[in-house]
Amino acid sequence: MVAIPGPSVMPERVLAAFRLPMPNIYEGELLDVADEVFARLPAVADTAGHAFLSIGNGHSGWQMAAANTLSRGDKVLVLESGRFPTVWGLFLERSGIEVETLPASPRSPVDPEAVAARLAAGPTDEFAAVLAVHVDTAISVRNDIAAIGRSIAASGSSALFVVDCIASMACDEFHMDAWGVDITIAASQKGLMTPPGLGIVWANERAIERGRNADLRDGYFDWQARLEGELIYQQFSGTPPVSHLFALREALRMIDEETLAVRWQRHRVLGDAVRSAVLTWETPGGVELMIRERGAQADCVTTVLTPHVDALTLASICENTAGLTIGLGVMDHTGSFRIGHMGHVNPPALLGALGTIEAGLRVLGAPLGGSGVASAAEVIAEAMATQPYA
Ligand SMILES: *Cc1c(COP(=O)(O)O)cnc(C)c1O
Repeated sequence: MVAIPGPSVMPERVLAAFRLPMPNIYEGELLDVADEVFARLPAVADTAGHAFLSIGNGHSGWQMAAANTLSRGDKVLVLESGRFPTVWGLFLERSGIEVETLPASPRSPVDPEAVAARLAAGPTDEFAAVLAVHVDTAISVRNDIAAIGRSIAASGSSALFVVDCIASMACDEFHMDAWGVDITIAASQKGLMTPPGLGIVWANERAIERGRNADLRDGYFDWQARLEGELIYQQFSGTPPVSHLFALREALRMIDEETLAVRWQRHRVLGDAVRSAVLTWETPGGVELMIRERGAQADCVTTVLTPHVDALTLASICENTAGLTIGLGVMDHTGSFRIGHMGHVNPPALLGALGTIEAGLRVLGAPLGGSGVASAAEVIAEAMATQPYA
């Protein structure tokens, strides 16, 4: 079983849809499938904007957003948070974008006041975009996107607000329009429960309008051509990703059946269960929860610091003796590990993963403050008493 922060566990229904035989790509069922996918996507980000699909991973979503809105020499403000925003900034620099990074403290979320202060220090058109991650998957921090959106709006800055929800989409609560976000980026393989291979970008009218003269625009990612294209072949700049469309449609139907509100709540409970387990394990000389501030802890992934335990050995014990794959640390390979709890996760899967990690820690002789699995079960029991779990 995988308990890594993407690719996540894929539901049988999605995998069954993924392996359907190839259809006609010019007429018939596939066109209905694509229409349904495009019709369902805006609700997942809670936006009245457009959704675009790029054949690629999350990085291709970054690229699609940049290609349609930025010009060489534009300056963007990257809000540091763990690892991913930094990588995103380096990626844009290679396209000729000037990147300024607003530093953050390593175990805290982005400070919305610091964003306001930085924007107030320059002219309102200084930055073409402000880039943030909702959840940084390296340190499992969740940023307050609504508050950052308010800081940007109050500053009068003309920058587009671009948010990476690659880890958090359909796991942690998110409202693109209400929170003042112009562009949202996700990928298929995390909370959206679909095999890797699709980048998903939502853009509002302001972002689409802004990009008409962007000089990073290219033939492949161009939103205008995709919007105006009448054929599905044009909407994907070539052959559509047939199997991914079938699979994503099934995943979006599952999200709709569960409802986003219940889904966010389920992730909240499972996130609480993981955090409760780690806090119970905690004892001097043992493991430690990375993000301690309540409200800033992601519900889709949890990073555990292991200053006294070799996390690589723990991961290999879990994988080779028990068949559980956990995420390696991004910031520090031997001194941390990550538990993915995004998408298709339920209590039996999560308790199994936590129990296996606990067993692995015992094999390593790590000191444990108590049974984390027992405390996770208590958190889940409380939720089970009031709501059903499938
Ligand atoms: C996974 C992830 C990425 C990278 O996505 P790829 O599909 O590997 O390109 C970027 N940002 C965040 C926050 C992620 O979790």
